[in-house]
Amino acid sequence: MKCYRCGGTMVFEKFFGICEEFFGWRCIFCGEIVDKVILENRLEQKR
Ligand SMILES: [Zn+2]
Repeated sequence: MKCYRCGGTMVFEKFFGICEEFFGWRCIFCGEIVDKVILENRLEQKR
């Protein structure tokens, strides 16, 4: 998995939201966070 912004390495991490935990990808260079919902939204916009 590469960061779509800077092309850096992304690591799979566990995040803690307001009322739930979720897993997502975080870029170790620019700090970009991508989770499942964000990815799905991005795919929707391409249609
Ligand atoms: Zn990045």
